[in-house]
Amino acid sequence: MNKRDAVPYVGRFAPSPTGPLHFGSLVAAVASYLQARTNAGHWLLRIEDIDPPREQSGAVAEIIDALRHYGFAWDGETIFQSRSRGAHEAALQTLVDKGLAYPCGCSRRELADAPRGPLGAIYPGTCRNGCSATHTAIRVRTNNRPITFEDGLQGLCSQRLESESGDFVIRRRDGLIAYQLAVVVDDHLEGISEVVRGIDLIDSTPRQIWLQRLLGYRTPRYFHIPVVAHANGDKLSKLTGAPGIDSHDVPNTLVAALKALRQGPPEELRDATVENIWLWAMANWRIDTLHGIKSISAQECLDSSTQNGLA
Ligand code: GLU
Repeated sequence: MNKRDAVPYVGRFAPSPTGPLHFGSLVAAVASYLQARTNAGHWLLRIEDIDPPREQSGAVAEIIDALRHYGFAWDGETIFQSRSRGAHEAALQTLVDKGLAYPCGCSRRELADAPRGPLGAIYPGTCRNGCSATHTAIRVRTNNRPITFEDGLQGLCSQRLESESGDFVIRRRDGLIAYQLAVVVDDHLEGISEVVRGIDLIDSTPRQIWLQRLLGYRTPRYFHIPVVAHANGDKLSKLTGAPGIDSHDVPNTLVAALKALRQGPPEELRDATVENIWLWAMANWRIDTLHGIKSISAQECLDSSTQNGLA
């Protein structure tokens, strides 16, 4: 057994409460759950509630209820990311104290002319050597050595942060801790050994690995699963109008999620109980069926009874 194998398996599902659970997030939850359970691992539920302006009232309860309804059983209490604010602040302070992060007073308007790359605006480094503003964000320094990791499904991924994103924000100007830092601190605190999540987050992974290295944390293994998309190719999300998952037809929707995950569930599984669907799924789970796949069409896996108003 090598050293890596000796680390206990801990996986997680980490939804932001910006709306109810939609079919795309259910698919991500099913994948991370099956991957954890079939590796005899723990599976944690972490509600990423650190961005109140984006949150929808009632979404936390809706997400938890939906997961229970679908038969997910997580280990321990539900974790609320907002409660680790002290640890986020401590990590931020460590980076600032070591000179690895600095205040940036640039406004959105001042950055409007910054060059843009596939990840968005590339920070030109304006405040790297000092800034006199009082109302500031905090950015972490980057360099141009490639950050490379082997994704369990998507293969080798690499980014040069300085030229592809530039020094990036870890505490926003409004004082809120940015997702990139919060997720890294929480994955570390909870001992997450493997992250199974949507491919829409793969471009964030090198930034997260960079923070892990600066903070001396272990890097988990990553599996980025395909996103579920509408017929026009847009990812299912609150923004694209994806409705909450159906709580009346749980077996059909769960089987549709297994179909989306290319598990080949037999048609008659739609008549089984939720418990038996999970038993089938655990016995047959193979994550490598998703190798190299980036997008799944919702229409392909949801039949008309489970389309839930998807266009
Ligand atoms: N909270 C993020 C989301 O709902 C997911 C974070 C993660 O899995 O790293 O999109």
